[in-house]
Amino acid sequence: MELLDFVTTQKRVWEAKLPLPRQVLVRDRKELDRACKKLHFPLAMKVIASAFVHKSDAKLVRTGLLDHKDTVQAYVELLRHARKADAHAAIEGLLVQEMARGTELILGVKRDPSFGPVIMAGLGGIFVEVCKDVSFRVCPITRRDAKAMLSELKGKTLLEGVRGTPKADLAGLSSIMVRLSKLALKHPEIAEIDLNPVLVDAKTIRAVDVRMLVADSGVRG
Ligand code: ADP
Ligand code: MG
Repeated sequence: MELLDFVTTQKRVWEAKLPLPRQVLVRDRKELDRACKKLHFPLAMKVIASAFVHKSDAKLVRTGLLDHKDTVQAYVELLRHARKADAHAAIEGLLVQEMARGTELILGVKRDPSFGPVIMAGLGGIFVEVCKDVSFRVCPITRRDAKAMLSELKGKTLLEGVRGTPKADLAGLSSIMVRLSKLALKHPEIAEIDLNPVLVDAKTIRAVDVRMLVADSGVRG
């Protein structure tokens, strides 16, 4: 399987109305300067190339960039790291995003040989890695299914507003899950979708990392 290119991935994201942070893909220093003027600090920046599936593993993500100078420095560093990781990687650009806040969730779709597309929801970070705290449903799902999936999570109190964490916009989140499940049914050429993480707080939901995989010989467009 291979990573679907950025432009096609974006098209699918818009189609399903998945909420993104304000972001710009930049290809040179001039575009970076323009992005800095357009977006609000603090910013995150990451290298986009089909060769890099797990960006942070190769030091290809920077977060919390506070000003223009910081951002230019990160740009140079990230490109250096990218060349070091794979000198021949075809880099689509550097994605500059506004920083999002809230609880980290993971939403995804995988295809099961007998059930077809299956949607997954889980809490981010250690909850998924250590606790395997995730729930699944066969696509398509209703908003009611989506709410049930979230309420099945052991770490659900994190979404309900405990000590310091705001109560998450669960209605908004459920709608997004419904649209994600429909997107998977509409596009059988997409083998896998990963929104990891989605940052959720009381008012906003932002998918800061969207990854779609297609079969190597997959039809695109
Ligand atoms: P990858 O999963 O390929 O390593 P990500 O884009 O998910 O790359 O970035 C790694 C981590 O950096 C995320 O899991 C998240 O914690 C943080 N991060 C990335 N972009 C943002 C953003 N726009 N706002 C807040 N945190 C971010
Ligand atoms: Mg990620």
